[in-house]
Amino acid sequence: VLATVMGATLALAGCGSSDSGGSDGGGKADGKIGVILPDTKSSVRWESADRPALEKAFKAAGVDYDIQNAEGDADKMATIADGMIADGVTVLAIVNLDSDSGAAIEEKAAKQGVKTIDYDRLTLGGSADVYISYDNAKVGALQGEGLAKCLGEKDANIIYLNGSPTDNNATLFSQGAHSVLDKISTYKNVAEQAVPDWDNEKAVTIFEQLYTKVDGKVDGVYAANDGLAGGVISILKKNGQAGKVPVTGQDATVEGLQNILAGTQCMTIAKSATGQAGALAEAAIAMVNGDKAATTGTVKDDTGKRDVPAVLLDPVAVDKSNVGAPIEAGDMKASDVCTGD
Ligand code: BGC
Repeated sequence: VLATVMGATLALAGCGSSDSGGSDGGGKADGKIGVILPDTKSSVRWESADRPALEKAFKAAGVDYDIQNAEGDADKMATIADGMIADGVTVLAIVNLDSDSGAAIEEKAAKQGVKTIDYDRLTLGGSADVYISYDNAKVGALQGEGLAKCLGEKDANIIYLNGSPTDNNATLFSQGAHSVLDKISTYKNVAEQAVPDWDNEKAVTIFEQLYTKVDGKVDGVYAANDGLAGGVISILKKNGQAGKVPVTGQDATVEGLQNILAGTQCMTIAKSATGQAGALAEAAIAMVNGDKAATTGTVKDDTGKRDVPAVLLDPVAVDKSNVGAPIEAGDMKASDVCTGD
C-alpha cells in the first residue's frame, strides 16, 4: 500500500488495514481506580496512547476510574493523589516523576488503606503492591542492536542522549544500549548526556551543544525516545546530516514512525499501550476486589531492598521492515501515520 507521509510517497506495511483495537479486563468491580500520568513534555505517549488505551480497558471492564496528568509537577501529583483518595479511589496507579515523590505518595496512600501500583516506572524505595511495565533492560538492548544494525561494522562515533536521571527506566535503557554497543570495538562513545525530565525541547539545545563539541563528527546517535530523537533530527537537518546519521528512539509515536519512513530515524521501540493498559486494568481490578494481582515475576528495588511483584511485558523493535506493527497491535490507526493516500 502506498501512503503519503511528509510529502513523500512511501510504502507502509499496514496502511489501509483497519483499526483492530480491542482490550481486555473482564470481571466487575465495585471500587474506583485512579491513574496519574506524569506529564506532556517527555513523550506524547501518555496522552495519545496510554490514556485512550486505559479508558478503553476500564470501560470494557465496567469499572469506575479517574485518569489525571500531573503536568511534570511532583507537588501537583501529590495533590491529585490526595484528591483521588478523598474521592474514594481504592487502587491508585502512578507514573512517578521521581522516586522520592512517588514513594511519599505511596506511603501516604497505604496509610489510608489504598493499594498502589507503579505504572511503567519503578519507584525506588517505594511501597507499590505491584509494578506493571515492559522489560526495560531489553528495551535498551534492542535500541543498541538497532543502532548497530543501522551503522554496520565500521568505525563510528556515537553520541548518547539519555532520558531523565530521575527515571529508573532511563538508567535501564542506557545500560541496555551500552551492554550491546560497548562490545563493538569499532564504536566510540564521543559524548553522553542525560536530558532532565526527558524534556523534548531541552533535548534540542543539549544535542546541539554535544554536536558542536564533537565538531559534527558523529556517525550514530542513541536517543532514548522518539521525542528526544525528534530534537536530534532537527539539529542533524540543520547541518545537512539528517538521514545520514542513524538515530534510535522509543515509543513508536506517530512522529517516530514517520521519521522512520522518511529515513531520518533508524528505529523505535513499540511498547503496546493496549497491552500495558490491559495489564494495569487486570491488576487494578483484582486489587479493587481485594484479590492479589497476578504477576509474572519480581524486580529488584535495591534502594528499598525488596523484590517488587511485577508484570513485565515484551518490547518490540520497529524499523522500516515492520513499521506497521503498532497499527497491527491496535495502538494506532493507519490513517494516524499515513496522511493522504
Ligand atoms: C517510559 C518511556 C517514555 C519516557 C518519557 C519512560 O519512563 O518508559 O516510554 O518515553 O519515560 O516519558
